[in-house]
Amino acid sequence: MQPEKLTITPLAAFQDNYIWCLTKPDSDALVVVDPGDADVVLQFARTTKRQLSSILVTHHHWDHTDGIAALKQHWPNTQIIGPDYEAERIPSLTQTVHDGDIVQLEEFDLQFQVLHLPGHTLGHIAYYQSSVDGAPLLFCGDTLFSAGCGRLFEGSPEQMHQSLQRLMALPNETLIYCTHEYTLANLAFARAVEPDNQAVIAHLTKCQQLRDNQLPTLPSKLATEKAINPFLRCHLPDLQRKYTSSSEQAVFTALRSDKDRFKS
Ligand SMILES: [Zn+2]
Repeated sequence: MQPEKLTITPLAAFQDNYIWCLTKPDSDALVVVDPGDADVVLQFARTTKRQLSSILVTHHHWDHTDGIAALKQHWPNTQIIGPDYEAERIPSLTQTVHDGDIVQLEEFDLQFQVLHLPGHTLGHIAYYQSSVDGAPLLFCGDTLFSAGCGRLFEGSPEQMHQSLQRLMALPNETLIYCTHEYTLANLAFARAVEPDNQAVIAHLTKCQQLRDNQLPTLPSKLATEKAINPFLRCHLPDLQRKYTSSSEQAVFTALRSDKDRFKS
């Protein structure tokens, strides 16, 4: 028998966050990633008649964790999984994990591999699932965004570059579930960096239409990111010429600091 299909729904929170909700039609379980806001999760659980069973946390920032306490109050038996390196800064974790660990979601018979991706924060992790209905999934928090990457609040450019290199090695069809709707602003920067990149221009048109219709531009796909995301393109001659360096790391560092100053 075919396993029932996993559905992944984005809940919009705050200005531009998404809380990703995992459900299956044959189960009343609900798994959420980075619930910064409890109210939208409670509302979703009510309307879909689901009970929260697990929370996955990628890093300690408030917009990814502030909803945990209220959700735990509502569902005291929820398992709450997060990075061991940031355990002191994330209240209520019931399980801490680090690079290479396997997270079991018994409720969906699913396994995620934990990847430690320092850069945005030092303990930042992602959850990777290699085979749901053929398409691998990545919940990468604030590490990789569509057409961009997270700001370096705690880590160095070297750490973030290394973390993104690890993600580059995942299969091209991997679906990228990041936690912010930053795509249009990121694409404006990508276009300024590579004005002749037709993939960037085409993606900008597509995403503009989605946003005009209040639809998310996510998830993205790793293959798409390799074509449009300047932070994944530091090895290419065009970018190395622009930044007059043949060092991928130097190009990455220059890009990150340009992006921090960029105004579209
Ligand atoms: Zn963050």
